[in-house]
Amino acid sequence: MSAKRVRSLMIHVLMAVAILAACAPAATEAPAVATEPPQAATEAPAVTEETMAPTEAPVEITDTELNVLCTPQEQWCQGMKQEFEAKYGITVNYVRMSSGEALARIQAEKDNPQFDIWWGGPIDSFVAAKGEELLEAYDSPNYGNLIDPVKMKDVDNQWVGVYVGTLGFATNTDWLAANPGVEAPKSWDDLLKPEFKGQVMVAHPSSSGTSYTALATVLQLRGEEAGWEYLKQYAGQMAQYTKSGAAPAKFVGQGEAAVAIVFSHDIVNEIENNKMPLALTFPEEGTGYEIGGMGLIKGAKHMQAAKLWFDWALTPEAQALGPTYAAYQAPTVTGVELSHPELLEVNLIDYDFVWAGEHKKEFVDKFTNEIATAENLKE
Ligand code: PLP
Repeated sequence: MSAKRVRSLMIHVLMAVAILAACAPAATEAPAVATEPPQAATEAPAVTEETMAPTEAPVEITDTELNVLCTPQEQWCQGMKQEFEAKYGITVNYVRMSSGEALARIQAEKDNPQFDIWWGGPIDSFVAAKGEELLEAYDSPNYGNLIDPVKMKDVDNQWVGVYVGTLGFATNTDWLAANPGVEAPKSWDDLLKPEFKGQVMVAHPSSSGTSYTALATVLQLRGEEAGWEYLKQYAGQMAQYTKSGAAPAKFVGQGEAAVAIVFSHDIVNEIENNKMPLALTFPEEGTGYEIGGMGLIKGAKHMQAAKLWFDWALTPEAQALGPTYAAYQAPTVTGVELSHPELLEVNLIDYDFVWAGEHKKEFVDKFTNEIATAENLKE
């Protein structure tokens, strides 16, 4: 599928959201053809009883607590914990970990899992977890809410998407002002320009799903041979690698480097909420995107509560909470207003999540062993 075709697919998704929002809660069909990007009107109706799929606790539920492995930003993890506790009266304990750390933890605890559910972080790591038989299949009654069940759900029901985010570049505007004639990068090649030498920041793909999405995007855009060649040069431009995927936007905002490669919703957060001097650009030849995932941990000790969270996280009510907690990812379910539809209206590659997930260990090992070690990652 060409980048254009993917863009049209995402537009199709946006149109479906907009049309469903504007029409009837009962509508289930996406429009057959979408040719124009949606206009600003993407208002969704307030979430009503009719838009809610059944999510009430099963009568027999006995779990009183739930242990969540939470990969998105701390503020959203904390917000979701509080919302779930208030709604269901089940105590939520969560630990925030980047994708690579989370996967390593689940692997290490395989015989005695400490977490019940893994929520958030690019789906590639969930595909990798499925390959190691670490996830439990679940046929949620709320899969019908998904905008695109084929792309957003595992064929064997071991993972599902809970948000969508696109990769972008964040450039410090004070640095640009101090370097007249230099423009914010608008292509992957721009990152290799001499003016950005030692000025680029990204997380390390061993710890971060964001960074792995960037790595896998380059390999898919350029093919493996040219892609690895590019990645060697890209590594030569780095100021420092961070542990967490969103951190480079913060550090670049503070002036520690000129350009960060991060998910665009994190850049929006830094600009809008933290007033960081950042300009958001996208690589025009195509950028990668994530489907943020969710999966039940095999052998979870609080499986009933985990299924309750799983069902709840697939409701418009739960997905509409994101912006309240500074999370501007797009939803994966219908009936939710998009806080920043423009973040999807960019040239997206046909990101192959299954391919990227199945090769994750191999590619991360290659990057770590041949290009840049995972030592001294900036926290
Ligand atoms: N934090 C935010 C805000 C994200 O959007 C994502 C992406 O899913 C992550 C964290 C993922 O974390 P990491 O790249 O550290 O694995």
